[in-house]
Amino acid sequence: MDGQKDSLIGLTRDQLKRALLTVGVEPKQVGMRASQLWNAAYVQGATDFDRMTTLAKPFRRELDERFTLQRPEVVTAQTSSDGTRKWLIRFGPGVEVETVFIPEEDRGTLCVSSQVGCTLNCRFCHTGTQKLVRNLTSAEIVSQILIARDHLREWPHAGRNTTTRQITNVVMMGMGEPLYNFDNVRDALSIVADGEGLSVSKRRITLSTAGVVPMIPKAGAEIGSMLAISLHAVRDEVRDAIVPLNKKYPIKELLAACRAYPGLSNARRITFEYVMLKGVNDSVADAKQLVRLMAGIPAKINLIPFNPWPGAPYECSDWEQIETFGEIVNKAGYASPIRTPRGRDIMAACGQLKSESVKERASARMAALRSRELAGMPH
Ligand code: SAH
Repeated sequence: MDGQKDSLIGLTRDQLKRALLTVGVEPKQVGMRASQLWNAAYVQGATDFDRMTTLAKPFRRELDERFTLQRPEVVTAQTSSDGTRKWLIRFGPGVEVETVFIPEEDRGTLCVSSQVGCTLNCRFCHTGTQKLVRNLTSAEIVSQILIARDHLREWPHAGRNTTTRQITNVVMMGMGEPLYNFDNVRDALSIVADGEGLSVSKRRITLSTAGVVPMIPKAGAEIGSMLAISLHAVRDEVRDAIVPLNKKYPIKELLAACRAYPGLSNARRITFEYVMLKGVNDSVADAKQLVRLMAGIPAKINLIPFNPWPGAPYECSDWEQIETFGEIVNKAGYASPIRTPRGRDIMAACGQLKSESVKERASARMAALRSRELAGMPH
């Protein structure tokens, strides 16, 4: 994004109005102007102010001097043999994330990242081998959806028949823990769900968490999307070992927060993700315990065959074992689909995402500053 200009992408409606007031838009016109810009950015997919012919030329010029609608840089765009697409997006030097589009027969899901890297260190997750670089801003989260729509040619002017949308669902299941970047994720999702903009309804937005228990009620109250929980184990000893966050928020507390999540019903269930790790969490006893734990929660269990990555310390459960596990859960009355691995050939499947971003260490920054000083260069 442009270094000097502020992006209008990612601002909530209120923030957008405030931004417009700073460039002299009349208070009584600001609602209308904000709506025009909102429509241009999120319905038309505008990337500059030039073609916004409903706005007077001098006003467009003024907007252009102060603001931008430009996209961040796409470093690589890959397509899997199964049609899954993956984009590596650069927000700044060394600040990169991956975004994945998974087309299916009846829907298209965009998997969006919330952080560069992650703090959680789940043992089976590739992103977990990467340190947290930083939280993404609301603009950077929303930009992932805009970039995907650009590449899928999903805007009206792209000439495609837009009555059938490609991105029907959004999942916060990319890199990072969304509940550790709460405010930016909340603002971004309110923009994604806005009915006069991108219009992905909250029922088609799923936020996945490894179980940041204190933030779950807040997510229910302020975000109101569907919820997914990365459960992965049914006993604290096992979960402590593979999802270290469990030591802070054990299974019992996590499930109590799930039971209290607002608006649950049979039509609006929590998804529990369960990665199938051979010999670790995939026994018949585990399946039976899982059923016990689910009592009283409108739940759907998503069984995820473990996706390998270089150096991963686990293996995927045998297919028969996954089916046996699924049957037990299913017979107890819980839907238990086995998630088909998608995009493995381009490392786009669950848990395979990683970028080369590295946290710039303070000492490295100091060294760089000093060498610039020595060379007589400005900072
Ligand atoms: N931090 C959030 C968002 C990430 S979602 C969370 O944990 O929910 C990514 C999902 O993929 C999580 O359910 C994660 O546990 C799962 N996952 C991670 N590594 C995986 C792997 N190697 N194979 C299959 N699923 C994996």
